[in-house]
Amino acid sequence: MSPTDHQKEKVLQAARWLSEQGYFGGKLGSGGNVSMAAAGRQAVAITPSGIAYPDMTVEDICTLDMRQKQLEGSRSPSMEAGMHIGIYRQRPEISAVVHTHQLFASVLAILSEPIPALFDEIIAEIGPCVEIIPYAVSGSRQLARNVAGKLDNGCCCYIIQNHGALSLGKDMATALKNTELLEKVSQAYYYALCSGREISRLPEDAVQHWLALRKKTP
Ligand code: 13P
Ligand code: ZN
Repeated sequence: MSPTDHQKEKVLQAARWLSEQGYFGGKLGSGGNVSMAAAGRQAVAITPSGIAYPDMTVEDICTLDMRQKQLEGSRSPSMEAGMHIGIYRQRPEISAVVHTHQLFASVLAILSEPIPALFDEIIAEIGPCVEIIPYAVSGSRQLARNVAGKLDNGCCCYIIQNHGALSLGKDMATALKNTELLEKVSQAYYYALCSGREISRLPEDAVQHWLALRKKTP
């Protein structure tokens, strides 16, 4: 038994669920990737590159060390492995990372439109905003650097310009919940923008209230 067997299983289940729900930009596509750090953070389980999710098995999930050296799996790891590992290095409270090509977050990605403070639940779970990570080619070091440049805001969701979305969690269940929440708020915000009417934002004292509670939550 490998020390990352549990994480590999979680990564596979999460990837299958996201694929079935269409979060990878289609139900048959392989856009997006999922990873989970092992306890002690000496290794990361991550989806392979370019394999359709409905066909994926646990043997396809790769394991890498924190320097991106492959430890297990005969497939090539996701081209975004550097981005995932960079997140684990920079954000010690994060143990699961989900990168998707989900529809409504992708709409905001091509509008390059960050999401302001709109709902209590978003601030409590995700943070006060969803920032835009500047575009760089998929899988590039520059993209990993652009992601790293935004992580210090402590938020759990980001939109990658002209690309897709990134959701983080202290565990896989939280990362998946944040992925879903991001899609809901992206859809609501996009429809609201389309109406051309003024968009009501949360008052600053409410933002501060939720941020204080968020800091207290382990
Ligand atoms: P991989 O199949 O290599 O994980 O790449 C998909 C993707 O979303 C690139 O940004
Ligand atoms: Zn992608």
